Amino acid sequence: MSKHFLSELTGSFATPALENPTGVMMEAAYQNLGLDWRYINCEIQPDDLKNAVLGAKAMNWRGFNCSIPHKVSVIAHLDDLGESARIIGAVNTVVNRDGKLIGENTDGRGFVESVKSSLALANKRVVLFGAGGAARAVAVELALAGVAHIIIVNRNQERGQELASLVAENTPADAEYHAWTQQYQIPAEADLVINVTSIGLFPNVDAELDIDTESIKSSMVVADGIFNPPETRLIQTAKSKGCTTVNGLGMLVQQGVIAFEYWTGKTPSIDVMKAALSDALDITDL
Ligand code: NDP
Repeated sequence: MSKHFLSELTGSFATPALENPTGVMMEAAYQNLGLDWRYINCEIQPDDLKNAVLGAKAMNWRGFNCSIPHKVSVIAHLDDLGESARIIGAVNTVVNRDGKLIGENTDGRGFVESVKSSLALANKRVVLFGAGGAARAVAVELALAGVAHIIIVNRNQERGQELASLVAENTPADAEYHAWTQQYQIPAEADLVINVTSIGLFPNVDAELDIDTESIKSSMVVADGIFNPPETRLIQTAKSKGCTTVNGLGMLVQQGVIAFEYWTGKTPSIDVMKAALSDALDITDL
């Protein structure tokens, strides 16, 4: 058999890129399936994004992730968008399909996959904190996955209202905006409470959502999109109330699984990806 030395290329375009652990889990999954594929973590400034995308195309990269601050601006450089990326208006995964660069969004589907084993989503009521890029993805995918109602709570009213309208107008779910008043009371009928703001993200690990913790009931599933640290203040409080909790590591791994499947057409080992990630981040409870 003749040997060859040309790897298939994937990677990430973001800034800052320094603390992005995605490559570790993707390369572990490639190796586990015997694939000669690489994942290159690239620090890309906004002004260089267009050239980076053209470069990836010229080098026949099979795909790449986009993270902060490129999730919206990358769309101008792509050939087409998948359905949920079009509704969300943001792309975190680009797939090279026969030379055409197609934008997809796996953030929200990653979240849905990570929470499914803790809660059957059909007809459930959701309270979602945040209205940024990740919150948009999570809200749209929860709605497409069958939840009945989503309350968007966000500091910036305009962004919050816009997301509530986006969900109500483009999906079968109902959605409304709630102003984030001091000591916000979570409505007692909520089944799922999610933080998709950056409150509590490293290094501000002691930051807390301004909510009345008495309104968190043990019947609620409480999830946090933040994976660094996995045990946020919100997750700690919810555990102390007896709630089922879901941390952000599941979302990180699951969005990687979906990207892997888009790029390679194969199913990766989730255990291998989790093991690589927990090794890289020194986490024991993955
Ligand atoms: P954005 O910058 O787009 O959005 C940030 C959100 O946080 C906005 O809703 C913003 O509110 C809110 N926010 C920030 N600071 C405060 C504050 N002090 N008080 C109230 N609200 C605040 O970020 P992303 O949507 O991309 O990311 C959000 C979080 O999701 C991050 O923590 C990120 O780590 C996590 N994430 C996790 C992933 C995973 O795989 N686990 C994947 C992607 C993201 P406002 O509109 O009022 O400014």
